[in-house]
Amino acid sequence: MRGAPLAEKLREQARADAAELGSVGLATVLVGDDPASHVYVSKKHEAAVAAGITSTDRRMSAGTSQEELLAVLGELNRDDNVDGILVQLPLPDQIDAEAVLRAVEPVKDVDGFHPFNAGRLYAGQPTFVPATALGIMVMLEDYGVELAGSRAVVVGRSTIVGKPVAHLLLGANATVTICHSRTRDLAEETRAADVLVVAIGRAGLVMPDMVKEGAAVVDVGITRTDAGLVGDVVPEVAERAGFLTPVPGGVGPMTIAMLLSNTVRAARYRRELLAFP
Ligand code: NDP
Repeated sequence: MRGAPLAEKLREQARADAAELGSVGLATVLVGDDPASHVYVSKKHEAAVAAGITSTDRRMSAGTSQEELLAVLGELNRDDNVDGILVQLPLPDQIDAEAVLRAVEPVKDVDGFHPFNAGRLYAGQPTFVPATALGIMVMLEDYGVELAGSRAVVVGRSTIVGKPVAHLLLGANATVTICHSRTRDLAEETRAADVLVVAIGRAGLVMPDMVKEGAAVVDVGITRTDAGLVGDVVPEVAERAGFLTPVPGGVGPMTIAMLLSNTVRAARYRRELLAFP
């Protein structure tokens, strides 16, 4: 289940939508020196520029205080040229991430991490949905994976990936199980899955004998190794699964494409072409 070609189409769509809207602005904010975060933010920035979205790339030092970061967010909230704001996680220890995510105007919250947007998702009335979770759903739909009535198992319960994707699967009428580090027998749970989403961050944890024959398997995990990026699922699972997303080239490109589409959505909300609740 390749994400890259579908992501390319979605990026094209975002480009056409942005052109139609005239001007769309995204601001990314990165605090600190985490090398992976720098790579992710640069990719998001480049993708936005390629889609004709004006992208402001704010980088702040590792020693930035909470007040300094909140002041920047206040500025971006007030800036009429900025439709979407994304604060790259993780944030350094001296900063209260919860307070920072709450400081982003909900109508500009293209990551969907503000409690307002997270609450809308919880209530089954999604507004901004976190990009990775949304990208997974779009990919499953594009590949014609039947969700209604299926047994879906999500491994990982982060607020960034696991929980939002579980809510979306539930909304699509799957019977959803969420697993985590305290799950007693992970293999027993995963073997029952028609749809298996793995978002752990442990290279190669899911082996072929943990997967049901013909299942649709989505590998969200990214671990950097000397041999390059690897997922949470070993590639041999492809021989058993009906579908398996590759790493790289699966969920990653979809995440970036959905960020662009969320940014276009923000521009529509802000121009009142769509009603924001
Ligand atoms: P977190 O570290 O926040 O969450 C990991 C989850 O995995 C936790 O719920 C944890 O359980 C669970 N877990 C850890 N070890 C095990 C285990 N042995 N068995 C079962 N569950 C386990 O990570 P994220 O959700 O932020 O990210 C997960 C992975 O996805 C990472 O590799 C990240 O890099 C990648 N990622 C990829 C994206 C993409 O675009 N492709 C986007 C975002 C993330 P517990 O809650 O009990 O600790």
